[in-house]
Amino acid sequence: MTEMPAVEGSELRGEVALVTGAGRGIGLAIARELALGGAKVAVVDVDPATVDSAAASLPGEGHRGYSADVRNASEVQAVVERVEVEVGPLSILVNNAGITRDNLLLRMSEEEWDGVLAVNLKGVFLVTKAAVRGMMKRRKGAIVNIASVIGLMGNAGQANYAASKAGLLGFTKSVARELASRGIRCNAVAPGFIRTAMTEKLPTEVVEGLQARIPLGTLGEPEDVAGVVRFLVGPRARYITGQVLAVDGGMVMAG
Ligand code: NAP
Repeated sequence: MTEMPAVEGSELRGEVALVTGAGRGIGLAIARELALGGAKVAVVDVDPATVDSAAASLPGEGHRGYSADVRNASEVQAVVERVEVEVGPLSILVNNAGITRDNLLLRMSEEEWDGVLAVNLKGVFLVTKAAVRGMMKRRKGAIVNIASVIGLMGNAGQANYAASKAGLLGFTKSVARELASRGIRCNAVAPGFIRTAMTEKLPTEVVEGLQARIPLGTLGEPEDVAGVVRFLVGPRARYITGQVLAVDGGMVMAG
């Protein structure tokens, strides 16, 4: 696909965003997009080697990198507290960190099941719980959870991943209902197949097979997801909460 033009703006000026798994891939594209909109971004990733360079690569000033494992409640709490002191009071949270450990059901180990649920679902719970405390006091916040079309349609060999992402949709809708009266919106984006390290692992014939199932005929780019996240956390989405928006070239059509 042709390159997505970078759109500078100011609609997120004064906002402070925390993006998990933002050292690379879709998370880094989301961090860049929110920075382009004027937000200060806390780049959080389990890999300490990537966070500082990722934060330094973002347009604008005031961004910082933090290393934390989203599975670890005390690390998550400590990072949220540091971000609120060092970057500013959080008003945007993007739960993007996620992993796959694919296997057919009968071959899937408990470790593969627990590992995926721990990052993709429990990690989102821990980060959201830590981040919303301040948002609730300030009566202002926007949360976007990065789910997957696999959570909507299922996929052979990904029962753990599909369950985690379907669970994330229920979590999103519950948080949206629970926190709407506190001025906090919560939505989910469900990407289809996006060109990142996660999909680079796939053999060429698998990618060709996937492309044949995508009505728009091509894999998406991280920027396709990032632009939608920027819209959902911004002022133009102020009346949208509890929604799931698929960014998938038409693989799953709502209705
Ligand atoms: P990616 O390139 O593998 O990036 C994921 C990032 O999350 C990595 O930087 C990773 O760090 C970090 N991470 C992993 N475990 C973590 C933990 N416990 N705590 C904090 N950070 C952690 O993946 P991606 O393709 O950009 O995917 C981003 C999100 O989009 C995921 O939630 C994924 O499920 C979702 N998604 C992706 C696609 C796709 O086609 N790519 C499609 C649908 C949904 P390390 O590398 O150091 O582990």
